[in-house]
Amino acid sequence: MTAQGAGKVTADVRDDPARELGLSFRGTLVRPADEDYDAVRQVWNGMVDRRPALIARCAGVADVISAVNHARERGLPVAVRGGGHNVAGSAVCDDGLVIDLSLMNGIRVDPGSGTVRAEGGATIGDLDHETQAFGLAVPMGVVTATGIAGLTLGGGLGWLRRRHGLSSDNLISADVVTADGRLVTASEEENADLLWGLQGGGGNFGVVTSFEYRAHPVGPDVFLAFVVHAGTDAADALRFYREWAPTAPDEVSSFAILWHAPEIDEIPAEHHHAPIVVYLAVHSGDVGRAQQDLTSLREFGSPIADLSDTLPYLEVQRFFDADYPAHEMRYYWKSHYLQGLPDDAIAALVELNENTPSPHSTLDVWQLGGAFSRVGPGDTAFGDRSAPFLLGIESNWESPADDAACVEWGRDAFRALEPFSTGAQYVNFPGLYEDGDEMVRGTFGANLDRLVDLKSRYDPSNLFRLNHNIPPK
Ligand SMILES: Cc1cc2nc3c(=O)[nH]c(=O)nc-3n(C[C@H](O)[C@H](O)[C@H](O)COP(=O)(O)OP(=O)(O)OC[C@H]3O[C@@H](n4cnc5c(N)ncnc54)[C@H](O)[C@@H]3O)c2cc1C
Repeated sequence: MTAQGAGKVTADVRDDPARELGLSFRGTLVRPADEDYDAVRQVWNGMVDRRPALIARCAGVADVISAVNHARERGLPVAVRGGGHNVAGSAVCDDGLVIDLSLMNGIRVDPGSGTVRAEGGATIGDLDHETQAFGLAVPMGVVTATGIAGLTLGGGLGWLRRRHGLSSDNLISADVVTADGRLVTASEEENADLLWGLQGGGGNFGVVTSFEYRAHPVGPDVFLAFVVHAGTDAADALRFYREWAPTAPDEVSSFAILWHAPEIDEIPAEHHHAPIVVYLAVHSGDVGRAQQDLTSLREFGSPIADLSDTLPYLEVQRFFDADYPAHEMRYYWKSHYLQGLPDDAIAALVELNENTPSPHSTLDVWQLGGAFSRVGPGDTAFGDRSAPFLLGIESNWESPADDAACVEWGRDAFRALEPFSTGAQYVNFPGLYEDGDEMVRGTFGANLDRLVDLKSRYDPSNLFRLNHNIPPK
């Protein structure tokens, strides 16, 4: 080799972070000095500002294996990024390695078998777009920029939950790169215990490079009931909702949301910015039947607006998107599975909504039951499904100056509703993970021992710990 050639090799190594790091990599490696570093390290929650040492934007399974081996061999903290929507910002870490799958978003629908294979960086919007082309849908969440990975691994509740269950209930198989850098498939036939763990147990067991789901015929149109009640009627509206919810057929999945009225023409101006209760219900069955099934919900009391309509499923899936802008707003979300909605719980919710420091915050009562509740507590890692409602506490605000007040409001709401809780929380609304072990114990209950056993086998050194962590033995 000539001296000139040697100089070129040295320059190549300097310009090529993969070679410099001794990594075999096809995707992009982003480091603090790189121009796109700040854009790539951002996650959805504007309150999260972490500075990883390296972001490995993987192009395929081989890159994921390289990145996992790199982190394990050097003892680096590891964060795994799907859609980057985890509210606590667990998709990024300080000083460690981010294994970023967001460039891996390929999807293949098999309309014949009604199954879908999606890579680990796909979003709900990506999946909806591909499946609806064949009149199909996989049950996912209600905001389309959310990643399918974190959502599915924690459960996945959306507009089809009472008809077809959680996202994770529809998981047939998954390809997973485990902590020792092996690629394994989890399905009913192979590593069935791992499939069980992925159905609610989170990112504890490895990096999922692709998910295979069951899809269902849905749409193209569905019926959306969208009814608004004034804050002065909030308690009555919630009491009616409590009685109505168990009578709804499985085709209906609904919320009652305590919020503040946005400034839109459809809501009378005197209610703008004032407390409201909104009923939102999607009926994914026959559109004619839907009108009938949702009549009593729409006719209760004296709504100040009824914006119900038949809409394309894709549009309903995007219904909330504009309310949850990425990066620019700040968020703190917690939850309780509720044993019921007694009058005292309703009074607490109404008072909290009236006293929120931010008009963007909401208290969301998710109707459960239906197909969601017919899966046994031990059948998947997700655990007990007996609660009739999930309360989502969403503190959402704009200014860093309001951080302390808005986080405190979220914590106040959590404490106020604790007496009505089953003791379990939804792991995908984890606050800042400050409840740690307590959340994991309360949520997984009798499944925890089996999860610890699984974790000890697949990740004995707890490489994947930036999540709702299940500690190995
Ligand atoms: C605006 C918004 C709306 C939401 N709506 C709903 C909803 O309707 N229903 C619902 O159930 N939840 C909802 N959520 C919560 C959501 O399920 C969680 O935030 C979930 O973690 C998001 O997944 P993600 O891939 O985008 O997250 P990320 O932040 O990328 O990842 C979160 C965690 O998941 C794990 N993970 C991610 N990708 C992988 C992978 N490929 N392999 C292994 N582990 C991985 C990691 O532990 C990571 O820390 C919503 C969240 C937001 C921000």
